Amino acid sequence: MKFALLDVRSGAVGLSGLAERLGSGDASARLDLPGGRRSVALPGGTYAEAFAVIAGALDELGVRGDVGAVGHRVVHGGERFSEPALITPEVLDAVRACVPLAPLHNPANIAGIEAARAAFPHLPQVAVFDTAFHQSMPEVAFRYAVPEAWYRQHGVRRYGFHGTSHAFVAAEAARELGRPLAELTLVTAHLGNGCSVCAVAGGRSVDTSMGLTPLEGLVMGTRSGDVDPGLHDFIARQAGLGLSEVTAALNRESGLLGLSGLSNDMRELEEAAARGHAGARLAVEAFVYRLAKQMAGMAVALGRVDALVFTGGIGENSAAVRGAVLARLGVLGAAVDPALNARAVRGESGRISPEGTLPALVVNTNEELMIARQTQDLLAGLKGAQA
Ligand code: ADP
Repeated sequence: MKFALLDVRSGAVGLSGLAERLGSGDASARLDLPGGRRSVALPGGTYAEAFAVIAGALDELGVRGDVGAVGHRVVHGGERFSEPALITPEVLDAVRACVPLAPLHNPANIAGIEAARAAFPHLPQVAVFDTAFHQSMPEVAFRYAVPEAWYRQHGVRRYGFHGTSHAFVAAEAARELGRPLAELTLVTAHLGNGCSVCAVAGGRSVDTSMGLTPLEGLVMGTRSGDVDPGLHDFIARQAGLGLSEVTAALNRESGLLGLSGLSNDMRELEEAAARGHAGARLAVEAFVYRLAKQMAGMAVALGRVDALVFTGGIGENSAAVRGAVLARLGVLGAAVDPALNARAVRGESGRISPEGTLPALVVNTNEELMIARQTQDLLAGLKGAQA
């Protein structure tokens, strides 16, 4: 569980941190305070202990009374949520109803929400859904060509994820381009351990590469992205695997890791590829190829592309990946300015394409700030409605 105390107006971070290995006997919390970094053991491995550490840190900084709300990232909001929601018992039930769609994520999100409500009972709590931004996708983009009953009865459709990040970088890109978001068509690429691209028209998602689950689409760190749906049956028979073992392998042993046989870490793969490691080279090239293909495909959803946006750990840091992707996207009128592209590595966001070509930007994502902003906007709206 990542956490941060944010000043919504300035974006300043008062404290941040990470609680790791929750649910196990060796859980711990890392706290980054103005005075330095500290690690605290969480012997019970519970969310309640993690929130006690956060509350203690707020007291230590003397700012507990200034906190206005808690915003939670919730992975799956199904078709119910196209906006952030004030967490009420009904909303929590709706998040619970989405557990079958995100069996690994939503139970953890619910546990976090319950612990936060216990730790800060007087504060409003808001859920910001990773899927919500994509609820604007048209039906042609979100429906699978499968029996209709699967959709009606079981919610089998494309939902998309990373919505908070795609929405944030689209707005930042508009600012960078000096044009209103409402007039722009953008292809945004969030490239972290999980990767997805999004077609953003006028600030709304009209298509994205992830689907029912975050497994669809691009080659990712350990996730396969798109495979032939016939693969499950084939490999289950050939390798004597159960369905859940196949799914686990596609989630945890595939992607960059599977292709390279070495690592899921792009930095490590770039270094190994430079030393001549064939698997690493193939993994990076396949990552780039599939990404470029998906980005070009998003042009169909948009009709016209005004700019390309790169973000996430790989998008913000790997000049090599960005350069190779842009080189493959000549079909869209894209090109790379090597000097600008190399400079963007040092955390500067901005343009990496030459004048007169399709603008390509690097934008540093900030999901925590987006969650905080959306939380504040929702509460301000509710207050306005009451007044
Ligand atoms: P998460 O999705 O877990 O938030 P990040 O957005 O931090 O992950 O992205 C992690 C990925 O970013 C890893 O593949 C990592 O290797 C890659 N990355 C980070 N820094 C660099 C770098 N300097 N060059 C290439 N890849 C990098």
